[in-house]
Amino acid sequence: MSKKPFVTKEKLEEIIKEYPTPFHLYDEKGIRENAKAVQEAFAWNPGFREYFAVKATPNPFLINILKEYGCGCDCSSMTELMMADALGFQGEEIMFSSNDTPAEEFAFAAKIGATINLDDFTHIDYLEKTIGYIPETISCRYNPGGVFKISNSIMDNPGDAKYGFTHDQILEGYKILKEKGAKRFGIHAFLASNTVTNDYYPTLAKTLFETVVEIKEKTGVKMDFINLSGGVGIPYRPGEEGNDIRAIGEGVCRVYEEVLVPAGMGDVAIYTEMGRFMMGPYGCLVTTAIHEKHTHKEYIGVDACAVNLMRPAMYGAYHHITVMGKEDAPCDHTYDVTGSLCENNDKFAIDRQLPKIDMGDLLVLHDTGAHGFAMGYNYNGKLKSAEILLKENGDFELIRRAETPKDYFATFDCFDILKDMKDPYQK
Ligand SMILES: *Cc1c(COP(=O)(O)O)cnc(C)c1O
Repeated sequence: MSKKPFVTKEKLEEIIKEYPTPFHLYDEKGIRENAKAVQEAFAWNPGFREYFAVKATPNPFLINILKEYGCGCDCSSMTELMMADALGFQGEEIMFSSNDTPAEEFAFAAKIGATINLDDFTHIDYLEKTIGYIPETISCRYNPGGVFKISNSIMDNPGDAKYGFTHDQILEGYKILKEKGAKRFGIHAFLASNTVTNDYYPTLAKTLFETVVEIKEKTGVKMDFINLSGGVGIPYRPGEEGNDIRAIGEGVCRVYEEVLVPAGMGDVAIYTEMGRFMMGPYGCLVTTAIHEKHTHKEYIGVDACAVNLMRPAMYGAYHHITVMGKEDAPCDHTYDVTGSLCENNDKFAIDRQLPKIDMGDLLVLHDTGAHGFAMGYNYNGKLKSAEILLKENGDFELIRRAETPKDYFATFDCFDILKDMKDPYQK
């Protein structure tokens, strides 16, 4: 089984003449087609909006592409709010789904008119004390606890998750918010991550729809929007069948007609906050094999490391690897593909069957378009890579430059201790 990269070897060789590996490459065509399919899948709901989870891929050029399809931004921090604001997203186009939120972030979110999605009952008070009022539009994050099942198989464990209000807290919360002057209400829940099944959203929707009917009966608060959040997954492994967003949209529509319409709530807007599904498959990490090592195992050392893509080290996540130009060669070698961090978990693949890899071969690590570059860090003093957009017409464009040592040392620039340092990369 294999997966086909969205870029050819020839195109990569052209890009590398200008920008050395490693870098993340994004597929404009794929991003656009998918964004359009998402809008179509939920077109039955007039108020629908996808708020792209900025944390997944915080690149203004990519977010601007999604903006053309009517997407808003889902932010979780000050800098994400700042980016959404700077890109011209207006109040209601920004969702602020944060947790453990610092006061300054609530204040800035309120200032730019973002919809605040409260993570906890105590945040009602905290928000009011911070900004002096309760906004007219407000949302609450629900955590029903227990385990989240889809037809008897356990998908995830909300009872162990730090997020959200309990059932009783959320009923009480809406009552208080209404008393304090809120006028438009939303509810949000994120109960399972990277779900590769068309049943996740419809099952979650049913739980939320039944809950909002109960909330209306018990508190008189009628919901204006229901936010299904993220969690729609992608097939990282070859042969795995991906989600069908059309079927997912239809599934949510069916439950909407079954639960909300009879309860007189046929005008409620559906929101989503997908990150992975919007971008994951449309990015890859391009890296070059620079070392081979034959010890107790066979190792291929590449010029990228966990700083560029943390998921394998952090979760043991699978990212498919294509050795460019060797797509049809037999996978008759077993390799650990490693980065250069002084951490033994800095491995992009362990015991992976691959074609024979030669030094200088280009490796494409698939599906790094979400939670890829974004999770980057600077351990071992390693620098973050560039991001490049492969355009629909085949041109390519730098959309984030690579970090330089100067960026790495920038937080010492208020001292004079490193002022005489020279950059060895600069000839
Ligand atoms: C991370 C996150 C998302 C996006 O999740 P994906 O799995 O990438 O779809 C959406 N909403 C919230 C609140 C998140 O924390």
